Amino acid sequence: MHIVQPGMEIDVLKENSKVAQQNFRNFKEHKVKSIDFMGSIGAGKTALIIKIAEKLRAKGVRVCAIAGDVTGVDDYSRFEKSGLKAFNCNTGHECHLDANLVRKSLNEIDLDDYDVVLIENVGNLVCPADFPLGTDYRVVVISTTEGDDMVRKHHDIFLHSDIAILNKMDIADAVGVDPEVIVQDYNRLTGGLKSIYKCSVRKDEGIDEIMSALKL
Ligand code: MG
Ligand code: ZN
Repeated sequence: MHIVQPGMEIDVLKENSKVAQQNFRNFKEHKVKSIDFMGSIGAGKTALIIKIAEKLRAKGVRVCAIAGDVTGVDDYSRFEKSGLKAFNCNTGHECHLDANLVRKSLNEIDLDDYDVVLIENVGNLVCPADFPLGTDYRVVVISTTEGDDMVRKHHDIFLHSDIAILNKMDIADAVGVDPEVIVQDYNRLTGGLKSIYKCSVRKDEGIDEIMSALKL
């Protein structure tokens, strides 16, 4: 739900970027690395975060997650069930997290207890692009099951994120999607300046490459 009164949107975005800078400083003061995972519902954001967190914990890295959802505790519960300490962040109506919601979540989290905070944004490929949260990296996760036109349809989110992840490579054939079309669209859009990483969270393929891209 966006505010569309004339002039107001600019103020909202300006205020957001001010709070995002405060969040960024807060993370830095506590030497915490933070990542914002954006992407549609069903792209596999929750599963990817769980997988990355498992690998981090195996290396002795202290990690927690913020579960951003409009309502409910589904992702929060999945995180907790996997052994990943999580904090639930419901937006109420909004279809994206904003810096202020993250600031409020950070009030609940003792950042001295963590090295890495993984944030799952609300499932949506449109407006999260406009609302940086103050993280080190912004990542967009898509999956082969969404079709081969995601990059062509959603320029902004791919331009506003540092890397893209193409999940569910293991079923690309089954859903009749050619991943190379997506990769070519992405490279054309970003002028080859950014990278798209193919992976299968379910098969644990390509995750290590994503983690090194994110310096984890
Ligand atoms: Mg999810
Ligand atoms: Zn929104």
